[in-house]
Amino acid sequence: MINPTHHPELRSWVSSANTPETDFPIQNLPFGVAHITANSPARVCVAIGDQALDLQALTAHALLQGLAQEAAHACEGGRLNGLMALGAAHHGALRAQLSALLAVGSPHQALVQRCLVPQAQLRMVLPAQIGDFSDFFTSIHHATNSGRLARPDNPLLPNFKHLPVAYHSRSSSIVIDGTPCPRPHGQTKPAGSTHPVFGPTRCLDFECEVGLFMGQGNALGTPIPLQEAQDHMFGLTLLNDWSARDMQSWESQPLGPFLAKSFMTSLSPWVVTMEALAPFRTPAADRGTDAPALLAYLNDTQDRANGGLQLDLEISLQTQGMRELGLAHHVISRPKFEDQYWTLAQMVAHQTSNGCNLQAGDLIGSGTVSGPRAGELGCLKEITRDGQEQIALPSGESRTYLQAGDEVVFQARCQREGFVSLGFGRCAGRVLA
Ligand code: MN
Repeated sequence: MINPTHHPELRSWVSSANTPETDFPIQNLPFGVAHITANSPARVCVAIGDQALDLQALTAHALLQGLAQEAAHACEGGRLNGLMALGAAHHGALRAQLSALLAVGSPHQALVQRCLVPQAQLRMVLPAQIGDFSDFFTSIHHATNSGRLARPDNPLLPNFKHLPVAYHSRSSSIVIDGTPCPRPHGQTKPAGSTHPVFGPTRCLDFECEVGLFMGQGNALGTPIPLQEAQDHMFGLTLLNDWSARDMQSWESQPLGPFLAKSFMTSLSPWVVTMEALAPFRTPAADRGTDAPALLAYLNDTQDRANGGLQLDLEISLQTQGMRELGLAHHVISRPKFEDQYWTLAQMVAHQTSNGCNLQAGDLIGSGTVSGPRAGELGCLKEITRDGQEQIALPSGESRTYLQAGDEVVFQARCQREGFVSLGFGRCAGRVLA
């Protein structure tokens, strides 16, 4: 899985790609879709340092060959679905040739330079047409912490250790980083009240998640075996599954979330490919000594050995009051994706195990990423114990749930000794009045 594109000594002639703090060194090369000028159609781009490589402009210079050229042609039309639908051979060839063109010593630097656009100039849009979006519940810590609020004596439901629980969510309301979040209205039943009321949610929350974009799909009726799930994954983004907790607790019995989640879901714009993430794979989280045996379709030696991912997430918050005082975003939590109980491959194998077909560009959410320690929780419901405890902010303000003007920002980095660390960019959204 590790190849020359991951080499830690590799440097780009794009100087901003060589700084230690950049999210987009030459070892990353994530894909996104952007309007380069105000009125131009959206195009597929590759992030490098603080620049973006316009893949359509590059194709016009005929610098890509063979499978890489086919892969670049699949990007025409301004969305990633065509590229995602191709297999690992195409993805690997495109990555290898882009890496060579952007590396120090490339004989084509002058031509490629003309295909670069500053990222600051781009207006990013959703990277793919998302046919279906399902959201999982794969953190045992999130499941236990949120379960404890409703069932103190029996927090974890009996199915949790046997299958990765999920629900079908809404693809039409998925938005890109920076889109403001309107406070949804809905039906709630306030504590102590005999009748429900309709009005703005009083418990607006975020959920810090990782989003998986599917690559090649599967035919209806043909499950993806766990051993092959990796070949069907294209890449990862950050995902904010905005949630209205008071609506959720009232409406979810017995069929699960509906309007409490479907008003908006935010994504970071750059899709970090599974190939770029190869150096950061790690064993699947320890299931503990009392865990039941996994059923065969969810059990694979390779997946236990390296189905996890060492990805450090960071959640920060800036209120209107903090902005007025000139205060920076305040970090409120640092969840670690390696703590997830179920792996990405198990999610794909489980979702297709009944023959359900996934398609290129489908989105799968990991569920809230929460760790076992304080400071590693992925939503306000857990951090504040459903509003019972306050978060103190540097402005002197405090929060339980989100208020108008609050901006939530997710960032993430992969780091490992011996490799160049890489990041995911931002997934940000500000709450409207
Ligand atoms: Mn969620």
